[in-house]
Amino acid sequence: MLKRLLLLRGTEIIVLALLACIPLTVSNSYLLGLLTLLTIYGILLIGLDVTVGYLGQVNLAQAAFLGLGAYAAGLSVSLLGFGMMGALGVSLLVGLVLGGVLAFPALRLEGPQFALATLSFSALSTTVLNEWDGLTGGAQGLSLNRPPLFGQTLGASGFYWLCLVILALVWMGMRNLLASQWGRAFEALRDSPIATDAMGVGTFRHKVAGFALGSSLGGLAGGLYAFNFQYLQPQSFTYDLMVILLLGVVLGGRKSLWGAFFGASLIVLLPNLLSNRILFEVISAAGLLLALVAGGRGWMKKTTKPFQALAPVIAMGMLVAGGFMVENTENWRKAIFALMLFSVVVGLPDGIMGFAARYLTKLFRISPSALPPASNLDDVLPLGKSSGGVLLELQALKRYFGGVKAVDGINMKVKKGQVHGLIGPNGSGKSTAVNVISGLYAPTSGEILLGGKPLPRGSLFKVARAGVSRTFQNLQLFGELSALDNVMLALKGAYRVPLPLVLLGFSRAEDRRAKADALALLALAGLADQAGMRAKDLTYGAQRFLEIARALARKPELLILDEPAAGLAHPDVSVLVSIIKSIRERGITIILIEHHMDVVSELCDTVTVIDSGQVIAEGTPDEVKRDPKVIKAYLGVAPDEPVAMPA
Ligand code: ADP
Ligand code: MG
Repeated sequence: MLKRLLLLRGTEIIVLALLACIPLTVSNSYLLGLLTLLTIYGILLIGLDVTVGYLGQVNLAQAAFLGLGAYAAGLSVSLLGFGMMGALGVSLLVGLVLGGVLAFPALRLEGPQFALATLSFSALSTTVLNEWDGLTGGAQGLSLNRPPLFGQTLGASGFYWLCLVILALVWMGMRNLLASQWGRAFEALRDSPIATDAMGVGTFRHKVAGFALGSSLGGLAGGLYAFNFQYLQPQSFTYDLMVILLLGVVLGGRKSLWGAFFGASLIVLLPNLLSNRILFEVISAAGLLLALVAGGRGWMKKTTKPFQALAPVIAMGMLVAGGFMVENTENWRKAIFALMLFSVVVGLPDGIMGFAARYLTKLFRISPSALPPASNLDDVLPLGKSSGGVLLELQALKRYFGGVKAVDGINMKVKKGQVHGLIGPNGSGKSTAVNVISGLYAPTSGEILLGGKPLPRGSLFKVARAGVSRTFQNLQLFGELSALDNVMLALKGAYRVPLPLVLLGFSRAEDRRAKADALALLALAGLADQAGMRAKDLTYGAQRFLEIARALARKPELLILDEPAAGLAHPDVSVLVSIIKSIRERGITIILIEHHMDVVSELCDTVTVIDSGQVIAEGTPDEVKRDPKVIKAYLGVAPDEPVAMPA
């Protein structure tokens, strides 16, 4: 047990122990101040990385949450007489609640609009802190005393240890959380919000939770910040700090606790870096070297475009040259930060830690954590014959887009246990029909019944929860997640441990079980030995099969496959056919949209043919193939003789 802990977490434990020992050996109050600030910024950046790294949103509000947390802690001590723990609890709560409140409207927005919403929030909160001088002291600032902790007054090193302990707890909790279904959900919704909903995970709730969580860490860091400096001013938490924080996360490396820690060290050292000319030259020369190495490597491997390789080199070169030319580097700090941020964003999108990690894993040959043996597929998806009867019924289903009658009154019954083909010429409304069934679009009118009960309308998430799973005509995978994680994310009923216990690490057992089940599904799709690969690195055919495996993880009653063979090479088409056959053996009802007539003939029990949004024929594959109306729809003319339909 202890050995395993050391093997897995050795570096973390050693670094923490070293950090904890420093005040015992060196009594330098300046150094201690820097270390305390390092722990505080560490917590702050771990929080910011949740939104910027995992959720993939540009969040400009973290500096404001630091300020709000700081004032909340300060005021609850000076006005309410709270102790240390109580005050820190208040600042955490303020971050959590205000973060959640901001997230609700803001996260309905995407990209630049989200960034603007967080920017307005920052402006609003600094204005309030500034103008409400009756409460906050306004621009005069707020002085406060560090309250006792459990009756003890903390000196500089005592307070540093407290910060370190809190950082360690945050680190541990976040590591557990990010390795769990929560972390997967955060990343999944960054890569494909649509698929996250379609897998029954719930994009919106996870976005709000992630943002509230990140902000609560901002608030907590603010509380510690207040007790560290014991003097607060609104202008400490504005635009300048925000840029530096973003620089820290991006430079350190997104999606990484070490990256956040590294970024925090950088932020703390920056002022010293700028005031010491020699240090500045050394660091900017190191930056130039890094830009040359990273750029040259990318150039040689042709993974980066010439601009991407060259721009950081030029920017860093300017920094080195500027160091010799300008009188006082501190006056140029904003320009310096801007150059650094630019170089990293362009040249090292994974940050310094991400860049280093590639070499470190090669150096130490860190193998990806060993996989458990796959579960028995029959336990994950039991074999079974369905009892017959109708599973899905569409009644006069319509969906118009403006004047386009994409689906124009479809009636259709899908029997349990069957593979039901849905065919028709391009643009006839097949995808729209399944998009309406699966909740991507709300119907314009008509009824959709699953097992006799109305299916939720216009919500991918609710329809997924009701037992319908699907793949997409244009793939919607979680590109940055591994194949295994793609399937694990969708696994129905696998995750029960509540959030507080997840933070404490009690979700490992269920995660291992989920892994084993997901491996069985990957094996069904012929992807057993690609489990660890990132989805976006898989071949096109493998990506198609992965999407099917992921959809199966929902253990659906009804599985909808929208042109799964589109773009597949011939050998892959036969693999696909055998995958669909083994899904049918498990009693799962399938709606199959397909162009290849031989595939349809081989797999489908019943086929519905639609044209211009209306059903023109229904029957067995052989029947519809001979139907003159069908032939006319495909060829544009009614031939005298039945002909083979084009693929
Ligand atoms: P199919 O899948 O059978 O090729 P679609 O369902 O994709 O056909 O498209 C049917 C018709 O609906 C087409 O004319 C298409 O342009 C239109 N359509 C589909 N989706 C949209 C949309 N989101 N907005 C506007 N028109 C759409
Ligand atoms: Mg389509």
